[in-house]
Formats: sequence, structure tokens, C-alpha cells
Amino acid sequence: MYENILRHPGPTPIPKRLELAMCKHIISHRTPEFVELYQETVNLVNPIFGTEQEILFLPSGGTAALEAAAVNTVSAGDNVVVITVGAFGDYFVSICEQHKFQVHKLEKAWGEACTAQELREFLQHAPKIKAVFMTYNETSTGILNPIEELAKVVREETDALVIVDGVSCIGGVAAKMDEWGIDILVTGSQKALMLPPGLSLVAVSKRAWQVIEANHTQTYYLNLLSYKSWAEKGMTPNTPAITLLYGLNEVCKLIAEEGGIEQTAERHDVMKNMVRAAMNALNIELLTDDAYASPTITAIKAPQGIALGDFLAHLKSKYHLDFAGGLGPLQGEIFRFGHMGYCFPSDILQAVSLIEAALQDFNYDFTAGAGILAAQKVFLKSTK
Ligand SMILES: *Cc1c(COP(=O)(O)O)cnc(C)c1O
Repeated sequence: MYENILRHPGPTPIPKRLELAMCKHIISHRTPEFVELYQETVNLVNPIFGTEQEILFLPSGGTAALEAAAVNTVSAGDNVVVITVGAFGDYFVSICEQHKFQVHKLEKAWGEACTAQELREFLQHAPKIKAVFMTYNETSTGILNPIEELAKVVREETDALVIVDGVSCIGGVAAKMDEWGIDILVTGSQKALMLPPGLSLVAVSKRAWQVIEANHTQTYYLNLLSYKSWAEKGMTPNTPAITLLYGLNEVCKLIAEEGGIEQTAERHDVMKNMVRAAMNALNIELLTDDAYASPTITAIKAPQGIALGDFLAHLKSKYHLDFAGGLGPLQGEIFRFGHMGYCFPSDILQAVSLIEAALQDFNYDFTAGAGILAAQKVFLKSTK
């Protein structure tokens, strides 16, 4: 009877208002009603991306949008740099390798961020580079790369495009695509945008359009020029995820009601600090330092003396609290506490309280209430 509390870093819970917005009657995408929905939604999403560029909607998961960003700008044999600090950076590497790009991989240990200085040195030793691919928020480790600084370095050192995977953070963090000099910024519907999966968003800079026009990609369904030419008419080249666009339109209104993306990002920051303070108070280790900690997902190590798999299974079966495990080398080492989208400080207090209950079930040595108190303190301070 009681639904699980989904605290994964995607897919994420969906607010009732979005569900209601998505039960409207379906319309055809070749009608004036659709054009109105399309154009209004693009305008509403612009501030969330921090761009005045057209935002393209693909009826796909985030992966297809990443692939679109790659294959439209780069051809086989071209040199690219991919920054990877975890599973999703590796994902970008795989996409680039699949298409036979010459990949120069700037790899950091899982749990670390890539710094501007590291990128600068790497670029100074690389051949002429067509594009630099980077992950804004590394979902496997809970690291937010310093994208603004990284984009600046790329601009200073090369004339390569800056292509950013923002799938697990756009809608939950600040993004200033135009100001920061990002050329392509991609996200998906089912993470911080709190929608069901199946819609991805791609924003493209003027500079990137020039590269795309000269690149003559072989792709058909993911051809961004075709999306661009239809966007001029307020439409998409093929049937879009109309239902999800209704939802996205409403997401933007929810964010506006909160006070705009800055306020929404602020809430995510508070939740990050609450989770970190609680785990510190419970003597449960975090994977990452505070410096580049993600506002949307926190990677947490197993409590001392407790088998992680048993702990997560217990949390889910007894308390209906559902966390994601670790990926790749971090499988069995960490769990991932998603706090993005439709998630509030009250949800963090609930989750911390349930974690404490489970810790008692496992006879973990701690002061009951210490985590809740620490999280509350952060929350109360943020409301002052
Ligand atoms: C989830 C995720 C993806 C993949 O998105 P899909 O919708 O599953 O295709 C890509 N990058 C990052 C950073 C993600 O978190």
C-alpha cells in the first residue's frame, strides 16, 4: 500500500501537479496548439539553461542527446578531449570511441573533480582539438565539476567546442550557458526536471551551429540541423514526446513559483549540506570532499561494520526508503542518495530519520537523533 520513497539520482519522484498537467488530451504536433505549447515552453526553459538560444527537444533519453551532441559536431578521426571523473564521463568516452573519434582522455580518480589547472596543462599537450566533452554533475560519484572555469580554460587555450552533459543537474543547479561559453548543453527529463523519462533537451550556441553546418553528419534521427529548421516553425521534425512537453511546461512554472532557478538551486544546496552534516554527525563517511560536492546526489560509504547490501535492502523492505547503489568500482562500496527535483528539506529529514532507525536495527554505535539534529541545524540556518 505504501509506495517506496524514491531517493535515486534519477529517475526521480514526480509532483502531482506535473502528473495532472500530463493528463491533458493529446494534440497533434502539426497544429497551432502545439506551436503555442512548443514556443512557450522553449521560452520558459531558457532561463533554466541560462541561454537565449533555441532549446531543442528530442523524444529520447539523455544518452541519445549526448550522442547527438557528439555526432553533429565531430567526425571520425577528429581529435577530441573527454574529461572523465566517473561512470558518466566514461560514457561520453564510449560514445566518442564508438564513432571513431580520436579520444584524448583526461581521467581523474572516481570521487574527484577535474580542475581548471589540470585541464589547461592537458590541453597544452594535446594536438588540435575539435571539442572538449565534460560532465557537469558526475552522477556515479556526486561530483559537480567546475564547469564555468573549465569552459573558460577551453576558450583560452583552444577554439574547440565545449560540450556539456548536464543530465543529472540542470534544473537543480545554476547554469549560465551563454555567459560561461558552453556550446552544447544537454539534459534529460527524469532527473532534476522531475518528469518521467523520455524527453531530452539540447541547447546549441551560434559557434556550435557553424561547426555543425560544416560537419555534414551522417545521422538522420539525431540530426540537429533538422531539429533546428523545424524549431523555426515551432515544431519538431518527427513526433515529439507531447505529454512530457506539457509536463516540462509545468516544471518551468513550478521553478518560477519557487522564485526562479537561483532559488531552486539554493534549495538543492541546502539539501546537500543537510545530508553531509547528518552523515558526519553519524560518523558515516562520504565519498567526496565538500569542495566539489554535488547539490543533487551524495555518495555515502557503508556505515562501519555493516554490509551495505543488507543495509540498503533493509531500508527498502522495512522503511520503504529506496537508495541507489554504487556503479562500477564503487559497487558495494557506496550508496547514492539522490536529492534532486521534487525533493525538499523535509524529505531529507525523513530519510535521515529512517537511516537512523535502520542503524539502530543493525546495532550501530551512535547517539540516536544526532544525524537528524545536524540536518535540522543546517535547515534552520538556511531559513534565517
Ligand atoms: C542518467 C545520466 C545519463 C543517461 O541518461 P539516460 O536518460 O539514461 O539515457 C547521462 N549522463 C548523466 C550525467 C546521467 O546522470
